Amino acid sequence: MIKVFEDFDIALVGHYQSVLESQDIPTFMKNQFGTSGAGELPFVEVIPQLWVLNESDVDRARALINELGQPDKGKLSQAWTCAECGTPQEAAFTHCWKCSAARPEDA
Ligand SMILES: [Zn+2]
Repeated sequence: MIKVFEDFDIALVGHYQSVLESQDIPTFMKNQFGTSGAGELPFVEVIPQLWVLNESDVDRARALINELGQPDKGKLSQAWTCAECGTPQEAAFTHCWKCSAARPEDA
């Protein structure tokens, strides 16, 4: 099994699971009952995770999840370009690695 997505929003994880299943991608959700224990268990134990059963489906599953996007975090998964110096940035960076300008809100 390969993990393709995780989020504390179980509704979102469940939504992605149903989308993947509708595309004939077998999935498995971990920790779907874990949120009630949040605060007592380590972070990694309770965050709902979406896994695909077959490695051959991983690329397709990730592409689907990417397409769907995440309402609040979608922009964090996209590469961006520094508005100050025009340097291309990795998605994970919150500040330009070259000139330290903050990532624009609408990037
Ligand atoms: Zn810059």
